[in-house]
Amino acid sequence: MNFKSHHRAEELLLSETAGEITRAESEWLHQHLDNCPACKDRSRQWQPVLQSLKAFQVQVSPELIRSTKQAVHNRAQELQDSRPGDLLFWSAAASSWIWILWSASWLWSILDRLGNSLRLPAWTWQMAFGFWWLLPAVAVAVVLSLHREQQRSAAESGIPFQSFQEEG
Ligand SMILES: [Zn+2]
Repeated sequence: MNFKSHHRAEELLLSETAGEITRAESEWLHQHLDNCPACKDRSRQWQPVLQSLKAFQVQVSPELIRSTKQAVHNRAQELQDSRPGDLLFWSAAASSWIWILWSASWLWSILDRLGNSLRLPAWTWQMAFGFWWLLPAVAVAVVLSLHREQQRSAAESGIPFQSFQEEG
């Protein structure tokens, strides 16, 4: 397993939530999750968020998702060729870009409607919108610190941790 397959697993988790996954992709994803504790953990951490997104019955433009994923993929490829140390960071950043693009299309109108029906002042739901977009930044920070911790403990126990930093 390498960075590419972990990255693909992340993309497919998002695709699966959006209902944009083929049977072969789904099989690959679940096989990867069964064999990759890191991605399994990540998918478990993402579950509450992914589930709540599903609950909204999100209708996202498939074209938007596709082009975002392509951009992310190209960027990851570039970095893999040049500065492997930054890959994790970019992967995390890419996930948050996907998140922002993905939620922008429907979240505002949901909050707007919710705010109106509850007769909340506009600033309360606008603030909620802002916090929602802060989530990926927080998640990225958590993921990065967990990853460092994992690498440290793996190094201490002498088990070679699969890291793209070591490949470079
Ligand atoms: Zn993985």
